[in-house]
Amino acid sequence: MAEALTNRSCGSCTMCCKLYDAPEIPKKAGQWCQHCAIGKGCKIYDARPQLCRDFLCLWMQDAGLPEDWKPDQSKMIASISKETGFVHIRCDPSNPNVWRSKARYAFLRDWAKQLLERGTHLLVLIGEQAFVIMPDQDVPLGKMNPDHGFILKRSVSPMGVTYDVSPAP
Ligand code: SF4
Ligand code: SF4
Repeated sequence: MAEALTNRSCGSCTMCCKLYDAPEIPKKAGQWCQHCAIGKGCKIYDARPQLCRDFLCLWMQDAGLPEDWKPDQSKMIASISKETGFVHIRCDPSNPNVWRSKARYAFLRDWAKQLLERGTHLLVLIGEQAFVIMPDQDVPLGKMNPDHGFILKRSVSPMGVTYDVSPAP
């Protein structure tokens, strides 16, 4: 079970009650949960589904994510896919371009570079649309299940290393 940093708390953030699918409730990603008091918390806290009990976003766990990446401020939630180990940045569909602001985008590209060196990747997700962030570009993968991965070809030339990214068939 993931552990929260001692100096971080959800406080008034309830973004994960909007951005994810929760079949147990049921609700779709991008819609507020019917049990959410937005900006306050869960109205059925003691009876909330296991999926809600188990979720802890990366901002709560990783001091490397700046304070202003708190999901209710940034409108993005970082998490790690259990299936692929990739970092997913899920954006609020009401603010689909938040990840493209200069500072956020520079942070994402730098983070993607560090992840690539460890053999993993960073995806930005807006609704069902996915983008893979590479150190030198972002590549739209279209509508996809982000837990299914994608195809990456690495080429080395006198100009340096380049990457060719495409959706899995
Ligand atoms: S998105 Fe993160 S900080 Fe916000 S309520 Fe969920 S776990 Fe807490
Ligand atoms: S049941 Fe509670 S914790 Fe779970 S998504 Fe709804 S409001 Fe959030």
